[in-house]
Amino acid sequence: MPIENEAQLKQTIWDVVHRTPVLDIHTHLYDARFGERLLWGIDELLTYHYLIAEFFRYSPMDCDEFFDLSKREQADLVWQHVFLENSPVSESARGVLTAIGLLGQDPRSRDLGAFRRYFESKAIEEHISDVFRIGNLESVVMTNDPFDEVERPVWEDGIPGDSRFKAALRLDSLIISWDDACKSLKEWGYKVKARLDKNVYTEIKRFLVEWIEKMDPLYMAVSLPNDFDFSDKSNTAKLLHKVIIPLCIEANLPLALMIGVKRGVNPAIKLAGDGVGKADIKQLEQLCREYPQAKFMVTYLSRENQHELCVTARKFANLMPFGCWWFLNDPETITEMTRMRLELLGLSFIPQHSDARVLDQVLYKWAHSRWIIGMVLQDKYSDLWRTGWRVSPEEIERDVARLLGGNFKNFLAR
Ligand SMILES: [Zn+2]
Repeated sequence: MPIENEAQLKQTIWDVVHRTPVLDIHTHLYDARFGERLLWGIDELLTYHYLIAEFFRYSPMDCDEFFDLSKREQADLVWQHVFLENSPVSESARGVLTAIGLLGQDPRSRDLGAFRRYFESKAIEEHISDVFRIGNLESVVMTNDPFDEVERPVWEDGIPGDSRFKAALRLDSLIISWDDACKSLKEWGYKVKARLDKNVYTEIKRFLVEWIEKMDPLYMAVSLPNDFDFSDKSNTAKLLHKVIIPLCIEANLPLALMIGVKRGVNPAIKLAGDGVGKADIKQLEQLCREYPQAKFMVTYLSRENQHELCVTARKFANLMPFGCWWFLNDPETITEMTRMRLELLGLSFIPQHSDARVLDQVLYKWAHSRWIIGMVLQDKYSDLWRTGWRVSPEEIERDVARLLGGNFKNFLAR
């Protein structure tokens, strides 16, 4: 059935955005094999570091005193200060309410005890399936670290995982603090030493090739500070140029770069104490130019970097901008970024990933993001309609499927 008018066009877009399954390309979620690494439930939601940062805006409590409390006691305090004594209008607080609402709990009750009983009554396998169904998720990509003591044995056992959870090989432990990584690699029998040279590079490559075989990752990834210099003589930069990027090219894996965290701006509040800094786009331009055969998936944490990232992506087809994370994951900024990317890049980007660390967070991240992506697309297709161009429902389905997963799959296959 052709679309007859603008109202029908908008309705079609809304329906398609909501019924198209999502491939969530970056999360910190794990399948049930990984046990304690998979976080879920109301206490995990409430003690997520976004909300701890907001708690300390309202409460004068001493930081050490807070972190000495049990998770449940911390959750009680967050609930008290961020939800009851002040209305939970921030995006992270609203997100908790969206998530529990989607799970069939009534936020109006304000009954934290009832929310706890709901999660306690569920088995994890059942809960995972409920979240995938309610969130309309096709699959999620994990963040997998071969240096993690819980993860290592699971991968080494080789027990097949849940196919809804895909792997991504995270490089931070290996390349950010090479001296520590070097000690572990030695223990595991690799012939490495702290001073990097050709032989050490060969051994690191051997290590990575083995882990690519174990994990079958969709890409490799690293998070870098805003002032990271790709061209200096740091161990991290050397490892990127000598091992990581050449291996990405050889194995046809994209390298995901998440750039812009300023670590430990206020160490007293732990994970909640990381900040943001603007990065220098020249670094990325140089990388895309130097390695035309490599594929870079890039997300910057600073709002100030977003426009130049779009412009750079117009110059380099081997660059895929993705997501709106952490401090950018609020409706105002997601709207701005999605609109800018559509206007500068057409449909050739990945609008969002959840970055969820708690399973239930995917529900609110995608509910809120679908709503925004739907609104922005309604606007853009209405602009198109007014030129006289007509799109079919099938074309809208094609376009939305690309945004919610297809572009990522095509980039992997490139
Ligand atoms: Zn992340």
